[in-house]
Amino acid sequence: MASLDVESLTLDGKNKTTVLCSRCPSKILCPQVGTYVVKEFSLPSMHHKTEGETDTAEDVKDYWQVNDMYHFENIGFSKTIDDRKYLICADCEIGPVGWHDLNTKMNYLALSRVKHTDV
Ligand SMILES: [Zn+2]
Repeated sequence: MASLDVESLTLDGKNKTTVLCSRCPSKILCPQVGTYVVKEFSLPSMHHKTEGETDTAEDVKDYWQVNDMYHFENIGFSKTIDDRKYLICADCEIGPVGWHDLNTKMNYLALSRVKHTDV
């Protein structure tokens, strides 16, 4: 996976551009809605929802933190696992593109799993 040029994607610590699904034209986040955070998290590999259980994961650390799920333009949720739900594309259901923490209600969208416009 190509390394991310975080600097070109952020403006004042937030997402500079519109965030889209990596596979379909679905719009996930408007500019300046997500806050860039670094978190160590093992995110299951991307797969289609209907393919069943994930068996592999990768360490992903660059995220857009979104404080309220209603701040997303479009987002879907997978089933609950432990205290989180994984975020998937609302239209094509590719994912996980991040996760929702059921305790804190915070959402984390992986920069490497989405597409950014104008970059
Ligand atoms: Zn999609």
